[in-house]
Amino acid sequence: MRIDAEVYGGKCACGGEHHMATRLCVIEEDALASFETYMTQAGVRGKRCAVYDTHTYQAKNLCRPAAEQEIILAPEGLHANEVSTAEVLAKLEPDVEVLIAVGGGTIHDIVRYCAKNRDLLFISVPTAASCDGFCSTVAAMTWEGYKNTMNCVAPELVVADLSVIKEAPLYLTNSGVGDIIGKYVALADWRIAHEVTGETVCERIYSIMKDATDCVWENALGALEGKVEAYEAVTYGLLMSGLAMQMMGSSRPASGGEHHISHLIETEPVALGVHSNALHGEKVGVGTILASAEYHRLAERKTVEVLPYSPIDQEWLREFFGEELYPVAKRENAKECLASVTPEAIEAAWDEIREIITHIPAPQEIEQLLVSLGAKHTLKDIGVEDEKQALILDASPLIRNRLTLMRMRRMIRR
Ligand SMILES: [Zn+2]
Ligand SMILES: [Zn+2]
Repeated sequence: MRIDAEVYGGKCACGGEHHMATRLCVIEEDALASFETYMTQAGVRGKRCAVYDTHTYQAKNLCRPAAEQEIILAPEGLHANEVSTAEVLAKLEPDVEVLIAVGGGTIHDIVRYCAKNRDLLFISVPTAASCDGFCSTVAAMTWEGYKNTMNCVAPELVVADLSVIKEAPLYLTNSGVGDIIGKYVALADWRIAHEVTGETVCERIYSIMKDATDCVWENALGALEGKVEAYEAVTYGLLMSGLAMQMMGSSRPASGGEHHISHLIETEPVALGVHSNALHGEKVGVGTILASAEYHRLAERKTVEVLPYSPIDQEWLREFFGEELYPVAKRENAKECLASVTPEAIEAAWDEIREIITHIPAPQEIEQLLVSLGAKHTLKDIGVEDEKQALILDASPLIRNRLTLMRMRRMIRR
């Protein structure tokens, strides 16, 4: 399958103009055997450096793209942080023009950052269908201990070789499935925000994301039988999600209440007392079940009583996040999006909100898919005690200043 990404750029019926940096995505078996052809088709020229970790470099089924320089990082304790990026930048020959990431999300984030830092072209070669970050412009970095999304560069070209991707351990693909099914909640949150505040929804981006999510929902189980179509569908969903974020210029279509839950757990606020080694998409999968359950529970109410907005209690915020994280949390919520929302606006939109929620699969259906795949599906599975659930639902929206139903829930009388 080829995705000629350039067609997604330009003027749109939503009234905006969408920017698209990625030219071409290829999702095929043995795609790496034709790497040179795709580089030519995408018009990418110049001296290359390919970056791997040792495991990926030695993978038997990997046809390594030709590159003048290769940098191979030790996989132990490898994170997208100031240490790994400094190592790559120090080793990088000064006349390199094209950086190729060969690997998973971490290698991609490291290389994406270095490409931005040196103003180089970036090429993506994902080796597992594990997350939707391959095609996006932002990198999830941990800088001196703080989690940070940094604006970097999108790939000119993505070469996703299904012969490599289908040999990756199933839990990596399951993580990709979790990251994508979360879009049902994210898309609902986007529509709900539109009903309440009039925030623009681009129907084109919305339907790109919805179709990609449906495609993964319908095909994911085939991965259990090693069906290449299943891997193709999940990879397609992940790449389209990245392209949709590029079009939008933000993660709005891809990240709502379910991602807030995952990000809260990743940030490890002091008073929450959690530490999870689960992958990003595994946490999103669990977050999707929790958010779906809460949204469907709220939608059972024919009417809601909404209280006036009250600002976040700063003393509570400080205690919850702890001294180190508090300044970041305070800054994020300084101009809280909820402040301009009136009780009347939520009450007036309630019928529409209930209708929007009917498009989110029920929590039991999501759980069933994840269980069938053998994927993590409970808080316990991702290393978080069940007792934390209520606090996670209440606190998770504070991780990101974005209007979601999870955030509006603060104003809804329980
Ligand atoms: Zn548009
Ligand atoms: Zn995600």
